[in-house]
Amino acid sequence: MKAAIIEAPGKISYGEVPDPAPAPDEVVLQVAAAGLCGTDLHILRGEYEAVYPIIPGHEFAGTVVEVGNAVKDVAVGMRATADPNIFCHECAFCRSNKANQCANLQAVGVNRDGAFAEYVRIPRENLYPIGEIPFIEAAFAEPLGCVVLAMQRAQIAPGSDVLLLGAGPMGCLLTQAVSHSGAARLTVVDLSSRRLELARALGATDAVPAGPDQAKRLRELAPDGFDVVIDATGVPAVVEGGFAHLRKRGKYLFFGVCPTGEQIRITPYDVFRNDWQIIGSFALSYTIQESIRWLQSGRVRVAPLISHEIPLSDVAAGLERAQTDPERMKILFLPGS
Ligand SMILES: [Zn+2]
Ligand SMILES: [Zn+2]
Repeated sequence: MKAAIIEAPGKISYGEVPDPAPAPDEVVLQVAAAGLCGTDLHILRGEYEAVYPIIPGHEFAGTVVEVGNAVKDVAVGMRATADPNIFCHECAFCRSNKANQCANLQAVGVNRDGAFAEYVRIPRENLYPIGEIPFIEAAFAEPLGCVVLAMQRAQIAPGSDVLLLGAGPMGCLLTQAVSHSGAARLTVVDLSSRRLELARALGATDAVPAGPDQAKRLRELAPDGFDVVIDATGVPAVVEGGFAHLRKRGKYLFFGVCPTGEQIRITPYDVFRNDWQIIGSFALSYTIQESIRWLQSGRVRVAPLISHEIPLSDVAAGLERAQTDPERMKILFLPGS
């Protein structure tokens, strides 16, 4: 089959690799659409816990074309997506409903081959049927599942005043999730006016261009700060700056993926004095079912988030665009085209 392979940090190629064969408890999916995510870029740059060589791609949907001989309840032809995280079921975290913190976590597209390929092999238990959801929308089930977990963790109170830093694809999923959570007001910050416009169309009440006037504008909107600040940029300086707009008793959700090892400065006294809560949210933790339900209902819209649908053979161009075009939204690779 054809696939995109990251041989080593900084080195990606597109070419022929052996077709995956399913283990007894696995299925093989023919990939119809696979989303490009910031994590793939981190893996490309060697900034993430990946193993090389690796076929990246952990957000995808397609059709089951082969099932392992121990799989009895999945028919070839099923339209499906997958939870890329493979949990061990045996460690202390798995056994206390914190599976995303699994001590032996494996992930499709991170430390075993992913979906930037014509076919991908996944354990049966990671497979989720998508019914009639179009493949290009079902490819959002994984990122939206991360948003579901973040919402479970942040517990945004009804009537909250929320600030969201970053209106990229994740920011625009968060925009919708926060809007449905009962927040009274959602202010979104981004460099791109096109992204801000989209966030407004998807439920943000206020949009603030990132730049020199940003802090002043945010203080006008929320003189005492925001009840909830969410970082969806993964840029350490932005994360650090967000604390200046956190209200007393506020919650700060670290959602964006900063490069491993990066540091920010915060004042512990301020955390103490202001009763602040700092909340992390890593990947998804059996939250893809809720995500699929959101997609099925149409209450979270993902089609407007797609800016590029690219044949997988142009993977290098897609990765290049993702790193240089500040206006781009979700880039989808279509292995079949
Ligand atoms: Zn991702
Ligand atoms: Zn585990």
